[in-house]
Amino acid sequence: MSYLYEPAAYTPDIWPESYWRASSPALPPCPTLTGPVTADVAIIGAGYAGLNAALELRERFGAEVVVLDAAAPGWGASGRNGGFCCLGGANLSPAQITRRVGALAAPEFDSYQQRAIDRVADNLARYGIDADRGPAGEVLLAHSARTWAAMQAQQGADGVQLWGRAALRDAGLNCATAWGGTYRPEGFPLHPLKYARGLAVAAQAAGVRIYGDSPVKTLDHANGLWSLRTGAAQVQARRVLIATNGYSDERLPRWLSRRILPALSTIIVTRPLSLAEREAQGWTSHLMTYDSRTMLHYFRLLPDGRFLFGARGGVSAQPERLARFTARARAEFEAMFPAFAQAETTHDWSGLVCLTGSMAPFCGPVPGAEGLFAALGWHGNGVAAASEGGRRIAPALMGLPDTTPALFKRPPPRFPLPRKLLLRAGMAAALWRDGPLRPAPEEA
Ligand SMILES: Cc1cc2nc3c(=O)[nH]c(=O)nc-3n(C[C@H](O)[C@H](O)[C@H](O)COP(=O)(O)OP(=O)(O)OC[C@H]3O[C@@H](n4cnc5c(N)ncnc54)[C@H](O)[C@@H]3O)c2cc1C
Repeated sequence: MSYLYEPAAYTPDIWPESYWRASSPALPPCPTLTGPVTADVAIIGAGYAGLNAALELRERFGAEVVVLDAAAPGWGASGRNGGFCCLGGANLSPAQITRRVGALAAPEFDSYQQRAIDRVADNLARYGIDADRGPAGEVLLAHSARTWAAMQAQQGADGVQLWGRAALRDAGLNCATAWGGTYRPEGFPLHPLKYARGLAVAAQAAGVRIYGDSPVKTLDHANGLWSLRTGAAQVQARRVLIATNGYSDERLPRWLSRRILPALSTIIVTRPLSLAEREAQGWTSHLMTYDSRTMLHYFRLLPDGRFLFGARGGVSAQPERLARFTARARAEFEAMFPAFAQAETTHDWSGLVCLTGSMAPFCGPVPGAEGLFAALGWHGNGVAAASEGGRRIAPALMGLPDTTPALFKRPPPRFPLPRKLLLRAGMAAALWRDGPLRPAPEEA
């Protein structure tokens, strides 16, 4: 099987009707690959990982680089996400990382996450990308008495600030279901498609050849050269990077099969809320915010006063099943922000994030395939992590040592059970653990 979900999730000529698409300048034209082309490195996937790798290869090593996308730059998760440029990338605690990879691996991953955020900031500045950057910091809201107690017990860790309900209200973050929360200073929100588009413009200006509407259908290796066929046309390159994340065709290469678990995430965006409406809810802050549920919600005010609300879940990309999931997300939004209930949804869309069998990204050589590399599995947090991953894998594509964290170098194992079954079971357990959405007491 090459894809986990229904074709609707992967059809390149179906663009999501996202708010990002409606508010972004047109993408730079990217021709379809027609003739035979050669390059030092061919990259499959024009999202943050592929475009950052291309920029690094071109600017730092002067390599001839071709990027192929089945649709266009930013068509995948890079043009659909919540725009949280934040810490993250793996689903492992520091203790788990230490047990698996060794004592140095956890601090190494910590520093990677911080560098990844700096990388995005640097990209925006260096290439003059106006991506509607918002205020620094991120807030995690406790959804239950238990998580709030755990947050209080960890008070003082890593310069994290603890905010009770009153402090949240003072900060313009009044959510009906929040018991309290923590603020940490790292990260900032941005317009994800403007960022992806800006990277594509910068890559083209640097001399990277980007081809759109060019799905790679086969990948073969002979005489030290990889051939990537998109139908009649082909690219030949000594080295290849797979940067297709949740949209990967699992035959490219077959090694990938069942080592990744694409998962759905859905976003709704409301019409702009007036200041009076925002004050009625007590939510006036533009900080990035998410809650402590395993099936987490992520939300923020956009620069023009619209509210973005995201939810993870769903096991089908059938339009009617997605519509049901979106309706559930809308009901949860109204439970958490009752004063916004009259603000209609103007845009909703879904996309695929990518988990792996090791619960960490994979960034390295594909075992047993000389010259073939992959950079994927950002666990729903790839704005920063995939950007940095693309940069860090570049030296390896030039045959040089690279600085990807040790955690990312371990090839993920295959999932042992049918993945839809795992998803259903995992989601049911998470929903049970999370419990129903209930208003928090006024003074928690
Ligand atoms: C709804 C949603 C919300 C999210 N919110 C956040 C957030 O707020 N913060 C955060 O950090 N992360 C978030 N993420 C995750 C983040 O968007 C991803 O981790 C990141 O964009 C991955 O980038 P990428 O370059 O690896 O892959 P993608 O951006 O998914 O790009 C993969 C590309 O590969 C192309 N492709 C696939 N197969 C082929 C082929 N055979 N030939 C040619 N091209 C091919 C696709 O067309 C696609 O453009 C979210 C994701 C979703 C879906």
